[in-house]
Amino acid sequence: MIFLLCFSVALVIHVTGDTSCPEVTIVSRADWGARAPSSPSPALRGQTRVIFIHHTETSSCTDTATCSARVREIQSAQMEIRHWNDIGYNFLIGNDGNAYEGRGWGVAGDHTSGGGSREFGIAMIGNYESNLPSEAALNALDNILKCAVRKGHLSRRYCLMSHRDTDSRTCPGTAMHNEIISWPRYCWRW
Ligand SMILES: [Zn+2]
Repeated sequence: MIFLLCFSVALVIHVTGDTSCPEVTIVSRADWGARAPSSPSPALRGQTRVIFIHHTETSSCTDTATCSARVREIQSAQMEIRHWNDIGYNFLIGNDGNAYEGRGWGVAGDHTSGGGSREFGIAMIGNYESNLPSEAALNALDNILKCAVRKGHLSRRYCLMSHRDTDSRTCPGTAMHNEIISWPRYCWRW
């Protein structure tokens, strides 16, 4: 039992904090100025298979400094107002084409309150009700998923879902929702 506990702790440490992806620039928590979580996030068992896509419903950002500030604001709001242990999303993607490390790989996100709660979540920074994220941001999303599969963080048979498929009427915005449901990896009611 002690061995198993040690192994699971070691696994969490191993899979989080991995920001080396040649396919996409991942801005680490240290680089965007994250606060430490108030408690550890629970590990996801096995490979991740379902990813929920969100928008942050904030203004968007087109450079690293602004996107980093936006991510810090989101983390503060989620920790102070919602009383979560950390930023809820596993990764966030800016219109600058960078991915921002949230909780990272291998741990449960906190971003839906329905059936997808504690699954993996990626948020597009901005409000995508009437327009899509930048092409650079959509490419970054595609590339971080490719990197995750190549590194074994994500199942080769993963599927994407829109937050609107569970407990949100608005997230990730109508334009982004319509985009996601046109993708081959979209699998509502997976
Ligand atoms: Zn959402």
